[in-house]
Amino acid sequence: MKRKFWACVAVAVSVILSGVPAKTEEPLKVLIVDGQNNHAVWPQTTQMMKSYLEETKLFTVDIATTKPQGTDPDFHPEFGNYAVVLSNYNGADWPKETQKSLTDYVHAGGGLVIVHAANNAFGQWKEYNEMIGLGGWNGRTAESGPFIYTNEAGDLIRDTSPGNGGSHGSQHEFSVVIRDREHPITVGMPTEWMHTKDELYDSLRGPAINMNVLATAFSDPSTGGTGRHEPMIFTVSYGKGRVFHTPMGHADYSQECVGFITTLQRGTEWAATGKVTVEIPSDFPTADKTSARKYAVQTAN
Ligand code: ZN
Repeated sequence: MKRKFWACVAVAVSVILSGVPAKTEEPLKVLIVDGQNNHAVWPQTTQMMKSYLEETKLFTVDIATTKPQGTDPDFHPEFGNYAVVLSNYNGADWPKETQKSLTDYVHAGGGLVIVHAANNAFGQWKEYNEMIGLGGWNGRTAESGPFIYTNEAGDLIRDTSPGNGGSHGSQHEFSVVIRDREHPITVGMPTEWMHTKDELYDSLRGPAINMNVLATAFSDPSTGGTGRHEPMIFTVSYGKGRVFHTPMGHADYSQECVGFITTLQRGTEWAATGKVTVEIPSDFPTADKTSARKYAVQTAN
């Protein structure tokens, strides 16, 4: 009896000290898929994204890794056990049944998050390209769908002219311009914020069906860009599923950007639930200043 009393006191004190009652909701389960990528930093960026998500206390994260080369016949994650799947994968095709399993999962309401080179993967997989909206490289041409970008006024252009999908100029810091200030992922963000050094993907093309561009970045010809405002944060709805896609995140220093981190946390929550509770942190970048959190690489003991 006495022990129970003190346990209650302990809970009450912890509520008072933290200012918020302990969360009673189950954390959202995230599965990061990786294993092959033309970006050698992928094992670290997977760990970075895992910690960014887990530090919100909203998510628990598992990782499913393919074998390092070729189609992995044993790669059969149980997507249905997760609220959202995050792809950090850019490699060989998955087994057909695994591809169908992801398509079915998203179509039935599963969440999907696409980061940077994940949009290079699976150039010929029709449903994947419908889910991600836009992609680059790996045989993407006019047949894959239009180039999508916005003009100065923010109007979305669907450009069916010929040309390969996917390019970028030299890496640099660039300004991300919010085009939809009402969406749960971007609401409350400064209208413009400076992103740390990254590849600014341009000329992505794809089916772009049911796609909502939330933010763009100007691809400056002086850095080898297109002179267009390229999509940087966007969503796609696919069946009952929600897809959050950012072409940002080339390197560790790109993912250390507080703008990237916050966008990833909010986008992943939105893909899982359709809502966002992650707040904009006080160290968020501004229109003229980048903001980064140095990531401490975890070393095995
Ligand atoms: Zn890259």
